[in-house]
Amino acid sequence: MTDSDRRDASLDLTPEDLGALLAGVTTLAEQEVAAARFGPVFERPPSAAEIDRMIGTDRALPVDGESVEDLLAACAAVLAAGRRTTPGFFGYVQSPPAPVAVAADVLASAADQNLTSWRSGPAAAAVEHQTLRWVGEFVGFDAAATGILVSGGSTANLSALLVALRAVTGPDLDRRGMRVYASAETHFSVGKAARALGVGLQPVAVDGERRLDPGALRMAIASDRAAGLLPICVVANAGTTSTGAVDPLDAVATVAADAGVWLHIDGAYGAPAAADPASRHLFAGLHRADSLCIDAHKWLYAPVDCSAFLLHDAAATARAFGTGADDYVRILATQPAETFAFWDHGLELSRRFRALKLWATLRFHGAHRLAAAIGEDIRLAAHLADLVAAAEDFELLAGPGLSICCFRHTPTHVDQPALDAHNERILQALQRDGRVYLSNATIDGRFALRACITNFRTTRADVERVLTVVRELAR
Ligand SMILES: *Cc1c(COP(=O)(O)O)cnc(C)c1O
Repeated sequence: MTDSDRRDASLDLTPEDLGALLAGVTTLAEQEVAAARFGPVFERPPSAAEIDRMIGTDRALPVDGESVEDLLAACAAVLAAGRRTTPGFFGYVQSPPAPVAVAADVLASAADQNLTSWRSGPAAAAVEHQTLRWVGEFVGFDAAATGILVSGGSTANLSALLVALRAVTGPDLDRRGMRVYASAETHFSVGKAARALGVGLQPVAVDGERRLDPGALRMAIASDRAAGLLPICVVANAGTTSTGAVDPLDAVATVAADAGVWLHIDGAYGAPAAADPASRHLFAGLHRADSLCIDAHKWLYAPVDCSAFLLHDAAATARAFGTGADDYVRILATQPAETFAFWDHGLELSRRFRALKLWATLRFHGAHRLAAAIGEDIRLAAHLADLVAAAEDFELLAGPGLSICCFRHTPTHVDQPALDAHNERILQALQRDGRVYLSNATIDGRFALRACITNFRTTRADVERVLTVVRELAR
């Protein structure tokens, strides 16, 4: 293209500027990967006032543009002030992205396929379907899985309840008598989804390992039915967020099948562990669920956002989201791929090409290496639990469950009632210090330090540093 072909207000760059911009972006991306490998969690934990100064939050709307150099410098400053998912970052459930997934996500933005339907992004749609099948096979759910990639576990859980509703009941029924069942350990997004839909959520008792009690579930469903309520769905956990507990999926599936209700498994965090040969037995019965969600940005090492909402039967999502649903479900079996529309299977219309980063990771590393990385995370959490159990000044409060270990510091000079406050102070100091990063959980009413290891770079030395740093900051 010559300059005379450009319209006055084109947003295109000169070839020189475009080259400089993309080279700068590559350099910054390399720096981010390096910072996540070697850096502290924060270069320097910033205050809100410092962030405001750095961004210039009260700066007016730029009227005229700036140079490539100025823009890159501004981006570099923003990135440098962010939190890094370093090998000592054990807070929340957040993995660093695999470098190959970062590169693929850049390409997804460049290509900007809009995954509304096969017609808008034919190859991208085929890649999404293949990715869903691969993920379904990876965790032993269904090698022919169907479904859709959504933004996260919260959207997937909301979608699951909507699908369950339409699978079990008619569209016009009063929802107030409808009931969803889940253990009290369930992620808050399930309660949020139930409230949004106007259905009730019944908490079900757990056993000593914080797993849903199938006997209590059976009784809760039966007594609700006897009281004239309408059970529609059980949500089982394949890895709770607090302690990594996996509900007894096979027994829960039997209860759900006997009761004729939908079974959704929330595996947003933990389901990838089903690919670890040493952990697979915990997930027996996973394939019996009607739907399953897995956050690729949690433990399949994808950058946010990407959650696989998997099902065995595409007619179920079509019934819930399809335009002209029932007719649509009838033709679904015979429709050619060319007429496939994601909008008939989920809440969104415009959708980014979320599959590419996960597809690239599965292709490049393969299932064996990915499962090995997940398995190593689990073994490191077990190592941390061993260290805690062996230390006189620490107490293991839960776990290890999958890759999560909950514990507290219990030096003899701190009385029992003061332990919560003592550990809370340690957590605040840790989060400011930045060498290792933990979050917290409440275990039987006690304040626990919680380490969740979902980082393919974390080593035994990183895990061993946790106790040293906690002891140092406690002084
Ligand atoms: C994180 C999490 C969610 C919510 O997922 P988002 O991707 O953050 O929306 C749901 N369930 C479980 C078990 C989780 O750990």
